[in-house]
Amino acid sequence: MRETISINDYYKNLLLKHLRLFLVILCLQSSWAEAQEHHFTNPQVRVQVTAETLNVSTTGYPNHKWEKVNPNRPSKQNFNFKIPRHPKIASRTTAVPSRGPIAVAVNGVVFFGPEDREGKIALENHGLDSCQGHPAPSGVYHYHCTPGCVHKDSPNQHSPVIGYAFDGFKIYGLQGERGLLPKDLDRCNGHTDKGRGYHYHTTENFPFVLGCYRGTPTLANYDRNQ
Ligand SMILES: [Zn+2]
Ligand SMILES: [Zn+2]
Repeated sequence: MRETISINDYYKNLLLKHLRLFLVILCLQSSWAEAQEHHFTNPQVRVQVTAETLNVSTTGYPNHKWEKVNPNRPSKQNFNFKIPRHPKIASRTTAVPSRGPIAVAVNGVVFFGPEDREGKIALENHGLDSCQGHPAPSGVYHYHCTPGCVHKDSPNQHSPVIGYAFDGFKIYGLQGERGLLPKDLDRCNGHTDKGRGYHYHTTENFPFVLGCYRGTPTLANYDRNQ
């Protein structure tokens, strides 16, 4: 009798253990499915969708080669960004912080603003590797301009989504309609078209990614220590 109970318990425990594992796998799969649905390309990026936000969890570690261009080394982070799902144009623009992440790319790597720690244009002041990124002293690998290893533009076509600004508006690459460089970008580096609504572009010249936020950025996303 005792043996029967213990065998039953054994199977019960086994079942529970597997059920738990199964649920974890199910959760991870659904958050990866959500991630893909929202343009993310890196299986290390997790996305949970709520009514108002995309909750993006990422290590921020590059999923492509990086080269030593400064004394720093990239390290894995524990970023959790809340990206507004229904961004709206705000009554006034918000300045992009001059330090730390301002947006997240579809591979989970972050964008920094155009200026680096000394307030100089990062592109001119510091070396960027061939993917247009480099690690900060904190180990946060980041892009300052169009990240060549995140996406490839097709000729004669609008660039795909390459990231999300912290105000929720999407960021596209260099190419506008019919593959031409957009000529109507505002000072935040964004414009509006019929299909996409308001969205940002990266540019070959200043500010390269975002000049300011046209919507309302989620303040909790800033890490002042970067
Ligand atoms: Zn930098
Ligand atoms: Zn556009």
